[in-house]
Amino acid sequence: MLRTPSTKCLLLLAMLSVLTACASVPPAARNPLADWQPSPNRNERGAQLIVLHQTEMESAAAALLTLQTRNSGGPVSSHYLIGDDGHLYQLVADSERAWHAGAARWGGISDLNSASIGIELDNDGAEPFSEAQIATLLVLLEDITHRFDIPRHLIIGHGDVAPPRKNDPSVRFPWQRLAEAGFGLWPRESLAPAPAGFDPWAALRLIGYDLRDRPAAVRAFHRHYRGNEDDQWQAGDEELLYDLQQQLIEAPPVP
Ligand SMILES: [Zn+2]
Repeated sequence: MLRTPSTKCLLLLAMLSVLTACASVPPAARNPLADWQPSPNRNERGAQLIVLHQTEMESAAAALLTLQTRNSGGPVSSHYLIGDDGHLYQLVADSERAWHAGAARWGGISDLNSASIGIELDNDGAEPFSEAQIATLLVLLEDITHRFDIPRHLIIGHGDVAPPRKNDPSVRFPWQRLAEAGFGLWPRESLAPAPAGFDPWAALRLIGYDLRDRPAAVRAFHRHYRGNEDDQWQAGDEELLYDLQQQLIEAPPVP
């Protein structure tokens, strides 16, 4: 027979004759195999990055229903949904795993759902993103990056982490606007020529792109940084990638 956590906690207390701790620490947070000696030097262990999506549905109400039930591929969810009027909904606690990324990879991370906060933007995939929606997104990004110490450059799109399968958010998403507010990796004002021997594939991999499908990776890079979906290298790509690579190399490690 299964016991409730509170019953387990009381039993443990009786067995050990310890009359503290359970009142202040949820029993589920403690391992009964160990002697609980809490340290104050800790914080909430949360996400390492943030993945942005567009709903590709006609309304936030329709998206809410899908994110609380399922789509054609099965049950789906996200931590947040932002309506095109800027209204912010939360569907899954920050500390829990939402089902928004699916099969995806970014750098060495292959379980994106465990590693990320997912934010859905109410957008049909063809329309521009509204000012009110982006304003709410910027407030939310400030909040989440601050609370979880997420490096501010680690805000990426679903299409970036799943290049062969996904193309959201669309080329209309204002990545440059986010960068001007301090979020996301973005090229600096003046770009130096890439040095001789520069390998754009190595730079793409360093940024985080999965290269198992190289044309799809180039298409995802262009969608994010160039505003088009061409899957072949373009003039200017090397300078841009060299700049992004150098920014990452120069970035301080996460404390
Ligand atoms: Zn998506």
